[in-house]
Amino acid sequence: MGIESNELASGAAACYLCGTTGARVLANRCRSNTPLRTVICPKCGLVWSDPLPHNPRDFYEDDYRVSYKGTYSPKPKHILRAGNVALSRHEKIRRLLANKMRVLDVGSGGGEFAYLLKTLGHDVQGIEPNRGYADYSIREYGLNVRVGFVQDVALPEKNLGLITIWHVLEHTENPFNVLLKLHELLQPEGMLVIEVPNIEATCQSPRSTFHEAHLFNFNLATLRKMTEKAGFAFSELSLSPDGGNITIMVQKKSAAHPEPLDLEIPGNAQKIIGIVRNHTPLHHYLTAPPYARLLRRIRQSLAEKRSAGSFSRGKALLDRLYSTLGHPSRGGQ
Ligand SMILES: [Zn+2]
Repeated sequence: MGIESNELASGAAACYLCGTTGARVLANRCRSNTPLRTVICPKCGLVWSDPLPHNPRDFYEDDYRVSYKGTYSPKPKHILRAGNVALSRHEKIRRLLANKMRVLDVGSGGGEFAYLLKTLGHDVQGIEPNRGYADYSIREYGLNVRVGFVQDVALPEKNLGLITIWHVLEHTENPFNVLLKLHELLQPEGMLVIEVPNIEATCQSPRSTFHEAHLFNFNLATLRKMTEKAGFAFSELSLSPDGGNITIMVQKKSAAHPEPLDLEIPGNAQKIIGIVRNHTPLHHYLTAPPYARLLRRIRQSLAEKRSAGSFSRGKALLDRLYSTLGHPSRGGQ
């Protein structure tokens, strides 16, 4: 894996979380086995790709060219999969939902999660950089989605009650600035839900730990600290059963910067270095999770093919899937 934790990463940027210089090299290759220098801040444990392996915008531009040939439409089995993911996301955040909330879903993709919330009667907006996905979600589900990157999009409406950002923050070129922007869009005491991959995860193959599209890698401590720095108070967290994803819920504090925050996270860098170092291919394939994971994926794919087969429209499919949610906000409210 080429982990040289003591090697100083020459020319690396100052830490995006605590501002310290002197990042160390954590890895030199990514999952496609191409060179990618991943560094870690010795003071707080934030992990990032340095230098940035590509212009983050290009990644989506390419995606855009591939998927947007005239009119883009996802396959029913993909809508079903994304619909099931949306249901599990709803399960995670349902405690935060009040009646008819103003919600923003950042990186709304094909619109499945935003449509779920719309179905429940909420006032939902989306932002999505991929024009093909965004247009599909507008056309198929009648969603209010803006095409673009959250960093750039000017939203006229502020005072949002809830913002969700699922698997987007790790792709942005400055996640702290994104958090500041989201803070601005929320009403006082509004909630923000963030989900990112967990750098401490060992459920994936060690070769997949570093991904060229993931410019930043968090563990719970660094994610939490970054939200605190941006003016949020920690509320709760959940880890996916396999430990692969961190979901945290934070609340916008009424006062912007009440007291100076200590940005050092003692022991965090050493902890992460230890986990990455011990996650070797031999260790990984001697344990059961990879096989269980593979089996689960095969079963899921077969089930999706069976149940998605009879639907030609995404809306009909999701309406059926979401019908079990009930419609508490409907009917004269
Ligand atoms: Zn740092």
